Amino acid sequence: MLDQTRYIRNIIIDEIGINGQKKLTQANILVIGAGGLGSSAILYLAANGVGNITIMDNDKVEISNLQRQIIHNEENLNQLKVDSAKEKISLLNNNINISTLKDKANKYNLSKIINEFDIVIDCSDNFPTRFDINETCFKNNKTLIFGAVKEFYGQLSIFKPSLNNACYNCFNEDNIYKRKKIDLKDKGILGSVPGIMGSMQATIAINEILSINDFKPNNILLCDFLRFSFKMVKISKNPSCKICNG
Ligand SMILES: [Zn+2]
Repeated sequence: MLDQTRYIRNIIIDEIGINGQKKLTQANILVIGAGGLGSSAILYLAANGVGNITIMDNDKVEISNLQRQIIHNEENLNQLKVDSAKEKISLLNNNINISTLKDKANKYNLSKIINEFDIVIDCSDNFPTRFDINETCFKNNKTLIFGAVKEFYGQLSIFKPSLNNACYNCFNEDNIYKRKKIDLKDKGILGSVPGIMGSMQATIAINEILSINDFKPNNILLCDFLRFSFKMVKISKNPSCKICNG
């Protein structure tokens, strides 16, 4: 039974209604990463009533995470992030199914599970994982919502596997971080920035489930939270990209 009282502010939106809210209840989303982006993405998916959420992460909560990873708190230090996140979600909305995967995502473990999900949200914090998520989504025809943050800046995109659509690898193949295997873990991030970007990822996912998403593939939104400027930039498909050309 749909709890109409809980979701009334969604339901009274013309584009959603009871049928849209039911669609959210039936949706099945994989969120990779329960860090800064994942914290707000997971909380808002759960609050909005997305019925099935799987969280994948193998990290434990550290004190330096709490500056931005608002799904965790001081009581969760040294606990697995997936367990801490699941605990918060059950307090927020006990009517949804939360599953946890205590693994670091890679193309081998992802390829075994990806077909269970409607949408994948990449809330990871490093380039090797992003490339693996991108490759697995394209090989398995799965919609991917990408977000990334650094300092005052954020990136947001949706990748939809098709012969016409670019993938993450198309514009990042020669990325210096990928070549040098630099980890982003030590880069600065203003604590509130991943909160905004993760909320945006959750919003795109919800709109996608409701079939009202108008954030088109082959675009990336570049967000600058110093100037508060937001720029949608075209991504070109790389005709020699090994991932998305079939
Ligand atoms: Zn590509």
